[in-house]
Amino acid sequence: MSNISSAQIESWIERFAAYIAEQKDYLTQLDAAIGDADHGVNMHRGMKAVLAKKAETPNSDIGGFLKTVAMTLISTVGGASGALYGTFFLQASSLGTSKTELSPAEFGALLDKGLAGIVLRGKAAIGDKTMVDALQPGIKAYKLSIETGKSLKDALTAAVTAADEGLKSTIPLVARKGRASYLGERSADHADPGATSTVLLFRSAAESLS
Ligand code: ADP
Ligand code: MG
Repeated sequence: MSNISSAQIESWIERFAAYIAEQKDYLTQLDAAIGDADHGVNMHRGMKAVLAKKAETPNSDIGGFLKTVAMTLISTVGGASGALYGTFFLQASSLGTSKTELSPAEFGALLDKGLAGIVLRGKAAIGDKTMVDALQPGIKAYKLSIETGKSLKDALTAAVTAADEGLKSTIPLVARKGRASYLGERSADHADPGATSTVLLFRSAAESLS
């Protein structure tokens, strides 16, 4: 099965930045309903800074690149999402050190490491109406597909489908973490903004990594 190159990892992040730019207003609208109307703005500021940083930083291995992504998000995004996505990429970067390509299984381990970082930092579990509701099932579907011999393309497609189902599952939920939790019952009947941007992360991966 074909490996994932560092150029593909870079185009994954570029494509994610493009999706965030395209969906900025929608993400902000979702956050206006159950938060403080800044998720799209936050993510767009961060990903724009990532692209600028990428342009001025010499090419490095996958770990170095993802670490730059992480540090840029942490330092430029004010909201919870900056710290959480930053932690995701920082933890993920630790499994890319000195690597210029990853096997599909190694990529799964990297995603898992990132998720563990988010959970350690944000303490959210499935059903709390956060990005974890999309991230965890997306990664699970990806890893299961790889373990059962599916192609990288099919595994990434399965991840998008599962993440999207996870996103939809957030709609009826009452938020138990983050700003939306301040609303209590009124947070129900809205999609979670962070879970929505997480689906874009998987969609970008599916379009760049295979
Ligand atoms: P802020 O809430 O600081 O305004 P954003 O609006 O950019 O930050 O991001 C909000 C998103 O962050 C939520 O939709 C949710 O998915 C995610 N989030 C918030 N708190 C947590 C947490 N503790 N764990 C995981 N994700 C969280
Ligand atoms: Mg917000």
